[in-house]
Amino acid sequence: MLNKKSVDDINVKGKKVLVRCDFNVPLKDGKITDENRLVAALPTIRKLIADGGKVILCSHLGKPKGEPKPEMSLAPVAVRLSELLGQEVKFAADDNVVGENAKAAVAAMKDGDVVLLQNTRYRVEETKNGEAFSKELASLCDVFVNDAFGTAHRAHCSNVGVTQYVETSAVGYLMQKEIDFLGNAVNNPERPFVAILGGAKVADKLNVISNLLEKCDTLIIGGGMAYTFLKAKGLEVGTSLVDDTKIDYCREMMDKAEKLGKKLLLPVDTTIAKEFPNPIDAEIEVSVVKSDAIPADMMGLDIGTETAALYAEAVKSAKTVVWNGPMGVFENPILAKGTIAVAKSLAETDATTIIGGGDSAAAVNQLGFGDKMTHISTGGGASLEFLEGKDLPGVVAAQDK
Ligand code: ATP
Repeated sequence: MLNKKSVDDINVKGKKVLVRCDFNVPLKDGKITDENRLVAALPTIRKLIADGGKVILCSHLGKPKGEPKPEMSLAPVAVRLSELLGQEVKFAADDNVVGENAKAAVAAMKDGDVVLLQNTRYRVEETKNGEAFSKELASLCDVFVNDAFGTAHRAHCSNVGVTQYVETSAVGYLMQKEIDFLGNAVNNPERPFVAILGGAKVADKLNVISNLLEKCDTLIIGGGMAYTFLKAKGLEVGTSLVDDTKIDYCREMMDKAEKLGKKLLLPVDTTIAKEFPNPIDAEIEVSVVKSDAIPADMMGLDIGTETAALYAEAVKSAKTVVWNGPMGVFENPILAKGTIAVAKSLAETDATTIIGGGDSAAAVNQLGFGDKMTHISTGGGASLEFLEGKDLPGVVAAQDK
């Protein structure tokens, strides 16, 4: 269990509470296309309203890189949050975030009111954890609550710097839930514990592979990263995505699995095509071959049918499953079969199923399996760093119980 002060441990009646949320939602033409992160933030916001706090929300959205970019304004979030909460969320549209609008809006707040500040990354100091902006944020509030799991792996003003200048800082329900689910799954799993890793590159997940090998009973590898492992086994992988600088690393991991007596599953067959689909959802001609029979001029773009069945079987016998990264180029329906098969096996099991955020979360939701999972993380990078066994600065910065 997380030993940090939570919103249940603090008294916010009549106090100004700055809440760092993760409202980094995808927008298209000013419309929010996936509001999971907004919905996930509601329990903490509702709790602070009910307790009579003056609730000042802040978040980043996208990467405006220190400049006010209208297409990355949090204005649409304020509108949708007002609807979700059933009360006005007043938007303080200051390009410098803590400006005249924000100060006036906060000064006018009554207990239970909600204000949303502008995108914290409109300020260049935000991602540098600069002192001045951290102090400005702190000057707005009496209490700070961090509920932004998606940014917890970063040390920025709005989640780390600000804690140095407030008397009380705590974590919100979402942060608590994320750490409890991911932490329990990895450090105290009901066994067998099966970890599934996919996605594009081995290099992105070196420490995750190594850490999870120590913790799990079976490690399943799919996606683009599988081909570096297959090459490390001495197989021809054609024009598939390969990182030649990580071949030795893959060998090391295979040795490590053997020494630890862990199962490391690699694709036994693979779906191949002449080239990467362009555009990504283009109709392409594919075939399935054994992993030791990939022609030199072909590219592996998904796990094969036999592999999908093998992985689904491994999931069936598990009590805990953690999954991060798609099994193939799932953006293309023809190459999504492996990812769908694995998602389906997770949806059908009674085991505890945890989805690390990012593309795997998107895939699971897109495929309609979202409500069948025990927990879908709201943070891609943050959940990965957690799976690496790293401490997350955003969590560390909150006060202990
Ligand atoms: P995030 O980092 O957002 O959490 P993730 O960890 O789930 O995402 P990534 O490492 O970003 O996953 O990789 C996802 C991408 O990998 C997808 O866009 C997918 O198309 C691509 N991919 C999967 N399999 C292959 C493959 N065999 N060849 C090339 N690309 C692949």
